[in-house]
Amino acid sequence: MKHILVTGCAGFIGSNFVPYFLERYPDYHLVNLDLLTYAGSLENLGEVADHPRHTFIKGDICDRKLVEHIFNTFDIRGVIHFAAESHVDNSIANPGVFVETNVNGTFTLLDVAYKHWMEGPFQYKEKYLVEDPSTIDHRPSTGGTVPRFHHISTDEVYGTLGETGLFTEETPYAPNSPYSASKASSDMIVRSYRHTYGMNTVITNCSNNYGPKQHDEKLIPTIIRNALAGNPIPIYGDGKNIRDWLYVLDHCKGIDLAYHEGKPGETYNIGGRNERDNLYIAHKICEILDELHPMEKNSTLKSYKELITFVTDRPGHDRRYAIDATKIENELGWKADENFESGIVKTVEWYLEKYNAN
Ligand code: NAD
Repeated sequence: MKHILVTGCAGFIGSNFVPYFLERYPDYHLVNLDLLTYAGSLENLGEVADHPRHTFIKGDICDRKLVEHIFNTFDIRGVIHFAAESHVDNSIANPGVFVETNVNGTFTLLDVAYKHWMEGPFQYKEKYLVEDPSTIDHRPSTGGTVPRFHHISTDEVYGTLGETGLFTEETPYAPNSPYSASKASSDMIVRSYRHTYGMNTVITNCSNNYGPKQHDEKLIPTIIRNALAGNPIPIYGDGKNIRDWLYVLDHCKGIDLAYHEGKPGETYNIGGRNERDNLYIAHKICEILDELHPMEKNSTLKSYKELITFVTDRPGHDRRYAIDATKIENELGWKADENFESGIVKTVEWYLEKYNAN
């Protein structure tokens, strides 16, 4: 049995990842460390609550003693690090906790992992300190014995794009919000542990995810919830901000591939080639709701679209993000299974169940 520490998996992406990963790898035991902040919920993990290869620990990634205890208790052979403060609006209101969790928390995990793997009972020291660590096959898929640290990051570290162009792994970092700046900082710390100590790291930078179990505060659940309640659907600015939307299970598949097959020290961008602006998304969701859950006959409105309302833009709102996923597609054979139009139907159906609207 291989013991893997996964962090933040009571949140949106992690709670989709855990059942997927457990099913795919019958020899993995996942130790799930999550603080259960407002963004995490054990309900998200309902389907694996009694799973014999999933251990949930409520705690803070910044708590060094706890993280050391976890490494000492379980023979941790890999880390997949999702835990973060993740909502840009909250980072504008309260940036401190973003620095604490995203920067200090990532540092704590990385440093404990490195010291444990280097100096602990497993003594991977010689394997790290060769002249060129990239000459060693560190990939978990080929039985590489050097434990891997996989850091989950975002395309927001690259800043904003004009009307053309795509983010590649070579695009210079230019984060614009406290959220993206804290994620960019954590990426840099991970990079430094690779460069300085030869640690077996992989980073994935993904575009906007959507799908089941996303927190109510994010764009797509906000649209659906307000529409169903007959409330105004708030859209920032002119609604023309563009994101590259990826269905969450396609992200999970990309993480799986990068964790198992990715080259040590490499970064892989993951994105669905599904650029859509916020207004398009609101319209699309309203059309699906009009079909799946039409408005009451006596309503004065004909379509949910009539609820769309423009509100004051977010300060410093990045205009456009778009990922060039060529590297992960060509090197690791990743490909998104869903396009936005197929994934959004599944997503709306899931929220209709959640909000008991069927
Ligand atoms: P989320 O906000 O839904 O979940 C975050 C989880 O981390 C929660 O369960 C929360 O309780 C936990 N957490 C927060 N602080 C913690 C701490 N100090 N110690 C332990 N646990 C803590 O986030 P998400 O959308 O699932 O994102 C997961 C990761 O993916 C993040 O690193 C995020 O930056 C990255 N990412 C997200 C997206 C997206 O569109 N959601 C896109 C690209 C990258």
